[in-house]
Formats: sequence, C-alpha cells, structure tokens
Amino acid sequence: MSTFLGIPNAPRGVGHLRGDEPFPVAARKALADTQLRRNLGKATTTIRAKRAAVVAELPDWEELREAGRAIKAHTMRNLGHYLTELESQVTARGGTVHWARDAIEANRIVVDLVRATGAPEVVKVKSIVTDEIGLNDALAAAGIHAYETDLAELIVQLGKDRPSHILVPAIHRNRAEIRDIFLREMGDVDPGLTDTPAALTEAARLHLRRAFLSARVGISGANFAVAETGTLCVLESEGNGRMCLTLPETLITVMGLEKVVPAWRDLDVFMQLLPRSSTGERMNPYTSMWTGVTPGDGPQEFHLVLLDNGRTAALADETGRQALHCIRCSACLNVCPVYERTGGHAYGSVYPGPIGAVLSPQLTGVEDNASLPYASSLCGACYDACPVKIDIPSLLVHLRARHVEEVASAHRVASPEAITMAAASWVMASPARWAAAQRASRLGRALGRGGRIRRLPWPLSAWTTARDAPEPPAQTFRQWWQAERGGRP
Ligand code: SF4
Repeated sequence: MSTFLGIPNAPRGVGHLRGDEPFPVAARKALADTQLRRNLGKATTTIRAKRAAVVAELPDWEELREAGRAIKAHTMRNLGHYLTELESQVTARGGTVHWARDAIEANRIVVDLVRATGAPEVVKVKSIVTDEIGLNDALAAAGIHAYETDLAELIVQLGKDRPSHILVPAIHRNRAEIRDIFLREMGDVDPGLTDTPAALTEAARLHLRRAFLSARVGISGANFAVAETGTLCVLESEGNGRMCLTLPETLITVMGLEKVVPAWRDLDVFMQLLPRSSTGERMNPYTSMWTGVTPGDGPQEFHLVLLDNGRTAALADETGRQALHCIRCSACLNVCPVYERTGGHAYGSVYPGPIGAVLSPQLTGVEDNASLPYASSLCGACYDACPVKIDIPSLLVHLRARHVEEVASAHRVASPEAITMAAASWVMASPARWAAAQRASRLGRALGRGGRIRRLPWPLSAWTTARDAPEPPAQTFRQWWQAERGGRP
C-alpha cells in the first residue's frame, strides 16, 4: 500500500470505472451493431488523418514527445511536493483547496459547496473526472440540475446515454440520431430542425444560452494545474468552457491529482502536443487559465477539489504509474483496431480504449477490471501515437501478469492457464522432450486442410472455436537445419 502524502491505505477508485459486464461479453454485443461500427469507423478515420497531417509538420515531434514524457515522469516522482506547492499557491491567491480520497468524498464536497450557494442548477464544462465520480447523479440526488454545456456531452446527457470517447463523447451517434434526440428532449427546439451540423449547433446554443446567463455556479475539470503559480488551465473547442469559467459567481474545479505540472514553461510542451494529438489542430481554439480569485473579474469564489480515487494506488506501482502521465488526448483510441470495432461502452469505464485498459484496472484494483488488460492485440499503434510516450503495450502485459499472480494467490488450485504454462516450461527445459513434442505436434497435420486446422479436440477446441490454427509444417526447424546445413542448429 502506498504511504504517499501520508495516506497509509491508498483508496480504491469508485464511481463510473467499471461496467456491469466483462469486456468480451460487452464487446460481442457492440460488434453486432453495424451502425455503431460505421459511425466509429468514419469518425476515427477522419481524426487519424487530421492528426497525422499536423504531426508531420513538426520536425521536432519526437523531441517534444520525449520532453512530455520526462516532465510527467519527474512530476510523478515528486507528486507530493508539487501538490503541496499547488495548494499553497491557490490558497495564497484566494482559492480554497479540498482533498478527496474517493468519488464519494468528492461528490459530497461539491454538493455541499453548491448547496451553500443556494443555487438550484450549475453549468458544467466537459470533464471526464466528474463523469468518473458520477457527479451529475450526486447533484441530481441533492435536487441540483447540472447542465452539460459541451455539445457532445449535451447529446449524451439528453440521450440518457454514456460517453464512449474521451474527446468526442457522442462519437457513436450520427447526425440523424442527434437530431432525433434534440427533437425528443429539448422542449424549446424548432420542430423543423434539420440534421446539418450548423442547425444542430444552433439548437444547442439557444438551449444553453439561458443557463449560461443565469447559473450562479460553474463546475469544471482541469487539463493542467501549474504548481509554481497555482494556475488552472482548461482547453476546449466551443467557447462554452469560457462561459462556465467566467460568468458564474462561484467556480468549482474537480481535478485528478496527476494533472499538476511543476512550472509554466512545461505548458509550452503540452500546448504543442495536446491539440495536435487530440483534435488534429495546430493550436487549441479556447485555452482558459485562471489563478485564484481576481476582485471584480470572474467568479469571486474558487474551490479546487483534488481527487485521489485510486491514483495513489496506481502511483505505488512503479511500472503501472505511467498510466498517470496521460493528458487525455484520445490519440490512442483513434488508432486502436479494437476500439474502432467495439466503441467505448464495451470498456465499461469512463476511460475507454487503450488508456482505459491500463488506467481503469489500476484505479479500481486489477481484479475488479480483470478483462480490460486483455482487450488488446498488442499491436503497438497506441504507443506510437501517444504524445507522452506511454508504453501501453508493456503496461498491458504488466497488468496481465499482475492479474495472473493475484488469481494464483487467491486460488489454491492452479488455473488451467497455470497448468498449461508449467507443462510448456517442463517440455521446453529439455531438448529431448522438446524434440518429442515437435514430432507429436506433426500428427496434427492429419487434421489440417488447406494449411489450416479448423477444429481441434478438447481442451484445444477452446482455441479453434473462434479461430483457425495453422497446420504444423512437414519438417521441424531442426530437421530443416540438418537437411540444409548438416549438424545441429
Ligand atoms: S495514453 Fe497517450 S495517446 Fe492515449 S489518451 Fe493518454 S496521452 Fe493520449
């Protein structure tokens, strides 16, 4: 257990971090939805092409990636120091810092803060961390309505749906579906609404305008927090965030512990990496930064809620902690062949795709999200795309090993996988046994047709139920070597 920041028992992540079904079951259902696959294929292909074009413009892209990785690794090694510095800077500039061990504590803090203002509703900037803790449900239970003001988040909220992508939460919806949701759920919408992007955006604008102008409380997440000055930073594309961050009297920001960076100069690196990797843009359209409270300008009350929810437990694993370097750009989702086919809901967590497969199990504990580290072909596309060089394939293998160890220590009877691996190890430890096994495997040629074996007897049938096995070659490698070169290989 981590003793980071004096916490003797690192809290487990709770909230929207795991689904009702394991990934293979949910993925099978998603694969049957051809409309979903078409929507995802179209959207990810477009974003991939945009990202590739703007990344190719920078001759020092690899150096920037390395700088991003180094800043994150340094920050994680000294996280306690930088968080304490952030707290004292925010406090010195008129803000109030709250520490939340988990989702339940964070929700309680936010609900109490909103209740103290007497506001019946809040406006929200798109924020995955508030999705993670299920803040909207907690506010609703307290009789407070939360307006999602990001267009995609609004579509998800009105559709009583769940986000399926980090950056584009409604990526699984096409224009016709969005129009239907608006006509059904927006009381004030024009009944003649068309499904053109301009018409849909205008409908959302009109719907949200009243909320922007009347809300007394704004709620946001944060992309970065600068420890040396106590400055918070939010990047967004629609201008809705700017409205939420400046118009209300009270601003509450919920931020995962890992979002802190040491200094302003670090933003120089991330401001180049993030827009190019996420939306395929050279520069972010709206970048808002604020430091504490400024009399007569913007919210006059500012609260920062620093959320653990499993992060210190992830930090305690020196290999796994790389997942905390993530800047939530979503590039790994857009290049992942598994994500492109299943979509985000199959992952069960608000963090889908390759980063979700390594982050969610660490936040909740590997046994509570055991199927996610296996939701990958280990092709490595996510590692190549990641702007902070998170080695996701190695993390997946690491978490698989942790899962196997946890299962082995929890069960006194060895699993079939453990028995198979022990048998393979015994065979491979002896040249004579290995040669005999190779000879025996060639009997499998009798089952093959056209170079493939379509059905193997039990227990190997578990493999051929879903895939073919290659037919063993006529010669073993050793026989080939002897014939070609003479002697032993
Ligand atoms: S893991 Fe890397 S590529 Fe994936 S969302 Fe995080 S920063 Fe982006």
